[in-house]
Amino acid sequence: MVDSRRVREKNNKPALPGPVVYWMQRDQRVQDNWALLYAAEEARKYQVPLLVVFNLVPRFGDTTLRHYDFMFRGLSEVEDELRALDIPFYLLQGKPEVTLSDFVAKHQVGQVVCDFNPLRFTDDWRVRVGATITVRLCEVDAHNIIPAWIASPKLEFAAYTLRPKIHRLLPEFLTKFGMLEKQTVPATLSSQIDWEGLINEVVTDRTVAIVDWLVPGSIAAKKNLGIFCAERLDAYAEKRNDPTLNFLSHLSPYLHFGQLSAQRVALTVSGAVASKPSRDAYLEELIVRRELADNFCFYNSDYDTVPGAHAWAQKTISEHADDKREYVYTALEFEQAQTHDELWNAAQREMVTTGKMHGFMRMYWAKKILEWTPDAQTAITSALYLNDKYSLDGSDPNGVTGVMWSICGVHDRAWNERPVFGKIRYMNYNGCKRKFDIAAYMEKFSEEPNLFV
Ligand code: FAD
Repeated sequence: MVDSRRVREKNNKPALPGPVVYWMQRDQRVQDNWALLYAAEEARKYQVPLLVVFNLVPRFGDTTLRHYDFMFRGLSEVEDELRALDIPFYLLQGKPEVTLSDFVAKHQVGQVVCDFNPLRFTDDWRVRVGATITVRLCEVDAHNIIPAWIASPKLEFAAYTLRPKIHRLLPEFLTKFGMLEKQTVPATLSSQIDWEGLINEVVTDRTVAIVDWLVPGSIAAKKNLGIFCAERLDAYAEKRNDPTLNFLSHLSPYLHFGQLSAQRVALTVSGAVASKPSRDAYLEELIVRRELADNFCFYNSDYDTVPGAHAWAQKTISEHADDKREYVYTALEFEQAQTHDELWNAAQREMVTTGKMHGFMRMYWAKKILEWTPDAQTAITSALYLNDKYSLDGSDPNGVTGVMWSICGVHDRAWNERPVFGKIRYMNYNGCKRKFDIAAYMEKFSEEPNLFV
């Protein structure tokens, strides 16, 4: 049984007799998905068919061909896997409050179950759909191990305030998944979706190339999780902050598209044969830091602007607003990696060519954007634009929170005062030089695309 604390009503309308629809959004996978398991339970309870719907909106933030390719290839796997379980999969296109409402009316749907995402534009869809449909809409947090509204009832100040709450609740929520089984109440299977046609037709920025070093989909995600645990996890604590090495898990694109469940990753890493410090360090990032990012976006409506920062940070940013910037770059100069700093340019090229910047460089990269833009809000907007356009894992609460941590001190404390940054934590070139071989990193991401080896 799915823990009822994972489920929230979105419109307080009744469930009626009729098929149960799982409106898949953030959690694009069949197994290890609490929202789909809950929808299946409801279908079994009322002895009605289970249907899955994915709605493609006309525009999704700064999404490009790179993201659509990754997502469609994952969804095509979802379609095949659902078909094998006798569950029809429908692709709708348009504004969800129109397409979903039409679908509910046409198929005489009894209730709709959706997954959870704290980003405001996706919640707007759910609110509008909830208002237009005549039946129940409920939301299941299938992304976090502990549902965001249970982990904490409020905006957390920092990792140290959320961590004890998470650790207290983990034994209750870090449980094994049941298998989604073949459906017994018959449904007419939907016709096969032409994914190749769709990728050719979708209206998006086609200048951002598809990457091929990371294979999309749940099968590849689980395979990569296995490889990481066997080959890199053991040294994660020691080597994760060196961008010249390949010791990260590279699971963030899978987690972002929901092709892999964080809960599955946590269960696998917890049971892996690897050093305890490495397992602990990894679980801290995967659970505490990731769920802290959802907490920040869920409870802070100003999550991507300066007013979303702590009071001390807003004060120091305002006090240093008129400080002279030694360099000021436009968004285009940043995008084309045309700053005076070759280390920064290499990081930008890493993101543009591979679709993923090393986690350590992401902090340096964003902090320099603060240093080289006229004001903090311009820095936030530019960093989010570039991150979401080029990163496979972009348009995610983790990206919003990472940018706000770097530029506005979110979840951080005040540091020694200095020009431009005020009390926001500073990072510099020489600091990087002391930590890792910056020449090797710059060489790796010189002019030509040079993917991970
Ligand atoms: P690993 O080190 O293998 O970590 C495993 C998982 O832990 C990650 O997949 C992620 O889910 C989680 N995690 C790790 N670090 C963090 C963190 N600092 N905050 C929250 N969760 C974390 N992450 C994104 O998923 N999408 C983004 O768009 C994104 N943008 C960022 C922008 C900036 C400026 C900064 C400073 C950080 C950003 N992060 C983002 C957080 C972090 O850098 C990435 O999650 C991580 O680099 C992803 O690579 P990985 O899966 O190989 O990491």
